[in-house]
Amino acid sequence: MQPNIILINCDDLGYGDLGSYGSKINKTPALDKMAAEGIKFTDFYMASPVCSPSRGAMLTGCYPPRIGFGSFDGRWVLFPGQGVGLNPSEITIAKLLKNKGYATKIVGKWHCGDQREFLPTRHGFDSYYGIPYSNDMGIQKEDDKNPPLPLLRDEEVIQAQPDQRGITERYVEECVRFMRDNKDQPFFLYLAHMHVHLPHYPPEAFVRESENGVYGAAVACIDWAAAVIFDELKSLGLDDDTLVIFTSDNGSRARDEGGSNSPLRATKGTTWEGGQRVPCLMRWPGKIPAGKVCSELTLSMDFYPTLAALGGAEVPTDRIIDGKDIRPFMFAEEGATSQHESFFYYKRNSIEAVRSGKWKLHIRKDDQEIQELYDLEADIGETNDISDQHPDIVRDLKDQIDACRKDLGDDAAGITGENIRPAGRVENPDTLTHLDRDHPYMIAIYDLKERG
Ligand code: MG
Repeated sequence: MQPNIILINCDDLGYGDLGSYGSKINKTPALDKMAAEGIKFTDFYMASPVCSPSRGAMLTGCYPPRIGFGSFDGRWVLFPGQGVGLNPSEITIAKLLKNKGYATKIVGKWHCGDQREFLPTRHGFDSYYGIPYSNDMGIQKEDDKNPPLPLLRDEEVIQAQPDQRGITERYVEECVRFMRDNKDQPFFLYLAHMHVHLPHYPPEAFVRESENGVYGAAVACIDWAAAVIFDELKSLGLDDDTLVIFTSDNGSRARDEGGSNSPLRATKGTTWEGGQRVPCLMRWPGKIPAGKVCSELTLSMDFYPTLAALGGAEVPTDRIIDGKDIRPFMFAEEGATSQHESFFYYKRNSIEAVRSGKWKLHIRKDDQEIQELYDLEADIGETNDISDQHPDIVRDLKDQIDACRKDLGDDAAGITGENIRPAGRVENPDTLTHLDRDHPYMIAIYDLKERG
């Protein structure tokens, strides 16, 4: 049987933002129930601490530099109208599943390229509904150079500068309609939330009830969306036939907005744990045992071969895929251990750290070389550098980094990877929208100026 698959990905939700991961201030009853009924991964990583590389990696099962997604003409993430995007020759998990008869849809943030050639509808999704990049990339002040924030249906802009406060409600409605329309065939639904990226525009009802300001309200909105989806699965009789995955594209900014990566160190945009270690929950009644906790090293890139196997699809053999099949963990098979000898933390196209087992070695932070070793089992917060006490482990991890450099490259070391593929590129790129001074934008200039 091919299960339905629903992948919920949040934007900038931190490790400590859910009740099941220790939050005492955000209200997440539906997601806490999901954790209790399914499996919680404690050592799960996104492949990048920022948006576009994280999403491209998750959808292709490859490290960002492997697919030309380490940086984008020098920028961290993709911006409106850039001529770069996910190469049409890459085979996303959506494309694999679609080829096996799945109905496929993405609702929400894409952020893998806004030129026509790179849109979700060209990457295996039958349909798309959403804001194709970050919600802070529209017009937020008079002198903004950004074009109006577009809302797309498939490849057509259906609204410019939509009211962000109502966008999640519209997203959820799309999800429910898709589930109903495809209840009799396997489907893959990718819900990529706008929340909790800045600026925060949660619905007023959640703001009133929040004990953590607008941030807590945005988290509550995410929880509400999950509750609707679970209710819908039950009423359609699909609960036992559906795997639901919940995660986040990178860690929280965790500054003064109310987000938390606790107990991890640092934030989004860094290769400390707080940048890339994120919540991951999976629920599939009757298949995934309830209340399990998995502390093995697992990666978002693992979704690719795992979901392919569940959908009866073959992983491409003409290219390197970095993810590993993690079904043994999901189904709590006796003696299952991580297939990853190590995980490499890239910032742009430079290696900054490696984790192997419980050890994590940092070799760089931005322009600065460092050497710090942490035992993540004893010291999850990366507070106590013990590199002096373990020269052998440092040496071994450095050897692993050297091998990775050869494979994927390392800008800081001046090394080009032997096994990398280029991003997609188009001539004469254009933005999806253009500012029209005569257009009656309902939200002409957003009242919030914050950017994430
Ligand atoms: Mg993000």
